[in-house]
Amino acid sequence: AEEMMIRSEKMSVAGQLAAGIAHEIRNPLTSLKGFLQLLQAGVNRKEEYYNIMIEEIEKMESITSELLFISKPLTDNKKVESVKKMIDDVVILLEPQAKLKTIKIECFVSEKEFIYCDRSQIKQVLINLVKNAIEAMDEPGTVKIAADSNKAHSEINIVDEGPGIPEEIIHKLGEPFFTTKQTGTGLGLMITKQILERHGAELKINKNDTVGSTFQIIFSTTI
Ligand code: ADP
Ligand code: MG
Repeated sequence: AEEMMIRSEKMSVAGQLAAGIAHEIRNPLTSLKGFLQLLQAGVNRKEEYYNIMIEEIEKMESITSELLFISKPLTDNKKVESVKKMIDDVVILLEPQAKLKTIKIECFVSEKEFIYCDRSQIKQVLINLVKNAIEAMDEPGTVKIAADSNKAHSEINIVDEGPGIPEEIIHKLGEPFFTTKQTGTGLGLMITKQILERHGAELKINKNDTVGSTFQIIFSTTI
């Protein structure tokens, strides 16, 4: 009975995803068709239309690449991994995007921090969270990444100086396709939560006292 229940739950998630995908892809397609028809009719605002069309295509591109990630069979390859190494890799990857917005990424991570995890999955989690942190900030500032541990837990904190998360949407974070961004996919936090679940880890989201929010990943060291 237990297995049946798990199965039907999975189906409904798949159904939910499929409906979401159809919707998310159909909107840009409809808009592309409209602009093509306008261009066919010979309008003069070609440059403007081309730009919008490219944006719509880019949106479909990012949705499909995130979906490819989800559809990959997730086989765990867990080992003892250096937290600093994973964070350094992610920072190298995202620094160009941060620099474009005059955002600094500061790391407070000792070389002595290790966690038992699937390296590529946890790097994906860090990419999703640091990317969100950068995207949340409209003004120059700093994204801080810190790692710490005690006997029972290892944690990684990602702290931004964005607007923080409004109370009324906090329960929606991680729902497939929930996004407040013009060109967001709303899949990043869903993937993040899935991966952390596979690690018996927890994601905590806090509003900072002064400005921005903190996303905290907590690994139990007893796993
Ligand atoms: P996406 O980034 O494509 O919108 P995510 O699942 O990564 O999808 O995030 C969902 C939503 O959560 C975002 O659209 C945004 O509203 C909110 N969010 C996530 N991270 C932050 C953050 N650091 N600061 C403020 N809001 C955030
Ligand atoms: Mg995101």
